[in-house]
Amino acid sequence: MTSRLELVLGDITAEDVDAIVNAANHTLLGGGGVDGAIHRAAGPELVEYCRTLGGCETGQAKITPGFNLTARWVIHTVGPVWHGGGRGEPELLASCYRESLARADEVGAESVAFPAISTGVFGYPIDAAASVAVETLRTTPTQVNEVRLVAFNQETVDAYQSILDLDTSADP
Ligand code: ADP
Repeated sequence: MTSRLELVLGDITAEDVDAIVNAANHTLLGGGGVDGAIHRAAGPELVEYCRTLGGCETGQAKITPGFNLTARWVIHTVGPVWHGGGRGEPELLASCYRESLARADEVGAESVAFPAISTGVFGYPIDAAASVAVETLRTTPTQVNEVRLVAFNQETVDAYQSILDLDTSADP
């Protein structure tokens, strides 16, 4: 289980952690949102490397070097597109967080920053997504000892904050 869960407002490409997580798409060849920002900051070697990976399924994660990023690794995961919640979206989103931690463990990354996977173009409601993120990160066995939730806007900060407050008030 993660020993430290932090919440920050900012751009994930600037995070000084061992690994940053990318909310990618199936191709792993770049896209908009956080994916585009990560590829721009990492440089063209990232897409060249990603071409060798054969894409990625929803709920899975693959790891690459970080190239020009401060982070040594990028963990690319593909979140579910929101279709109303009845197509396994919560389980698939939880799987993204679990699989990303598993990739981090495989390379010994001890600090990992996550964007709010699926909550941009993929349309997952932020409150529901924040709840899945925090619960999964709190309960998944891992050697990662510092997880940073990186919110790109105030709405996302507020959603995480209310879940984290709930968690705290539930403590004995
Ligand atoms: P998805 O396709 O999984 O929805 P998006 O990139 O569209 O991925 O959005 C995922 C989340 O990442 C959204 O909350 C969006 O605001 C956020 N985001 C976009 N750019 C950045 C960035 N540079 N750093 C951190 N988060 C970002």
